[in-house]
Amino acid sequence: MDVLKKLLAGDYRDPETGERLHVPVKSLVIQESLAGNEADLVKALDLPKPYAVVSDDHTHRALGLRVETALASLGKLIPIRLGNRPHPDDKTAERVMQEGEKAGSYIAVGSGTICDLGKYAAARQGKRCAVFATAPSMNGYTSVNAAITVHGHKKSLAAVSPEGVFVDLGILARAPKRLIQAGFGDAICRSTAQADWLMAGRLLGQPYRTTPFAFIADLENELVADPSGLLKGDRPALSRLIQILLLSGFGMTICGGSYPASQGEHLISHHIEMMPPQGWEPALHGEQIAVTTLVMAKLQDRILTRDTPPQLGASKVSAGSLRSHFGDEVGLACWKDIQPKLWDTERASRLNERLQAIWPRLKSEISAVRRPAAEVEAALAKVEAPRCYTAIGLPRTTFRDAILHAREIRNRYTFLDLAADSGLLEPERLID
Ligand SMILES: [Zn+2]
Repeated sequence: MDVLKKLLAGDYRDPETGERLHVPVKSLVIQESLAGNEADLVKALDLPKPYAVVSDDHTHRALGLRVETALASLGKLIPIRLGNRPHPDDKTAERVMQEGEKAGSYIAVGSGTICDLGKYAAARQGKRCAVFATAPSMNGYTSVNAAITVHGHKKSLAAVSPEGVFVDLGILARAPKRLIQAGFGDAICRSTAQADWLMAGRLLGQPYRTTPFAFIADLENELVADPSGLLKGDRPALSRLIQILLLSGFGMTICGGSYPASQGEHLISHHIEMMPPQGWEPALHGEQIAVTTLVMAKLQDRILTRDTPPQLGASKVSAGSLRSHFGDEVGLACWKDIQPKLWDTERASRLNERLQAIWPRLKSEISAVRRPAAEVEAALAKVEAPRCYTAIGLPRTTFRDAILHAREIRNRYTFLDLAADSGLLEPERLID
């Protein structure tokens, strides 16, 4: 809790710059139980009334009813109940905004979907919000973006940060097992994301920061050493996981982008969602990330155990290859976006010189902060999280395709690029 307390109080000094860091959350409470304190916690934020309390069938049963009952003591409420498994899409967001139109602020009670809908509706309507977490399932509670599907395309849209984030560990302990496993997946990807970001930073001279990792390191080491308690409702383990996820959200805010929490492993997951197999029932975000993190860890293992650096060649993708893979519209948008990471033979040879010069040091720098695939796999196994594409319901071809083409959707240089540019991206060797 120390790091979180310091961050909230504006007392955490950035280890890189020495400056005090600020985060937009005003009140963050993690306790064994919040029962009886709900109204006081919200009241202290001084949010405009009436409150619109957003929940779905599951989160209403878990905690929503309790929050509604408590907040009713502060005045008229607008309960917004979204039924069974609502989708975080434009249609549901419209419904929230319509029902919440007369509200002064939103109180979301839930995890990914409900939190995103509340934060997004608040941003669109210039309102404020707070969230009561019901599961440690993803790192979006404290982020300033919401994943909303618009016209069938999943987008990361601007949202407001909740001013209050309230966590009742007893509620988290009763969250569905899958949600806890997903949260562990979205936490352990820190390792592959940091390795990717660090590599791009050193090779291409892009900005890279250690701060978002510095404040997570101890918690992550403690959790990964023994994550099995997560499934037994072990409070210290659940507390560590939710703290890591909340800090991961702050890390993105501090870096002005998702760099510290989303690299190659997230690109593969995005590709799967962009081009899903027919009739696929999407797995939870963190379940997909568990599987794709393991693939990235294996790829990083393969490249980082080489004595000599990979030899980059001129980029092989073209506008034509992207259009034939993604279709005209998306293909051209990707083509535009990834221009900065495409190069000709001359640039490739300059990068090869650089790789040659930095290789031993780069390897040891990355190895110092990443977890080998065996360690990632063992940790995921301890929480029974998905580790194979079959566990998230994918055909092999879809998964192989996603590994091959994920790097084409975004201008983020990861080990997927380093491997592809040097002829070392062989999905079949990373899948089993
Ligand atoms: Zn994620």
